[in-house]
Amino acid sequence: MQRPSAHEIEYFHRMETEKLKEARQKHAQEMAQKEKEDMKALHYMHCPKCGMPLEEIDFRSVYVDKCFHCGGLWLDEGELEKLTGEDDDSILGRISRILK
Ligand SMILES: [Zn+2]
Repeated sequence: MQRPSAHEIEYFHRMETEKLKEARQKHAQEMAQKEKEDMKALHYMHCPKCGMPLEEIDFRSVYVDKCFHCGGLWLDEGELEKLTGEDDDSILGRISRILK
């Protein structure tokens, strides 16, 4: 059998290196995704301040997340707007317009 030329050896070596690089990138992506899922599982519906479980409460017909441990009240995106109107001059209305 003919021995592979230096050119062929280099070609196969490059192919192997590419494959390894792709496998490493895929592994890194999978790890990043898993890390995200683990973080979400660990923190979902937990108070960002004290870490205790949050409970959904009906506040003016908007379901907001309340921590009964530290008393924090957490709003999801769009919930502050739901609680206030454009011409709402209450403190919530003013905060809502500042944050826009
Ligand atoms: Zn809390």
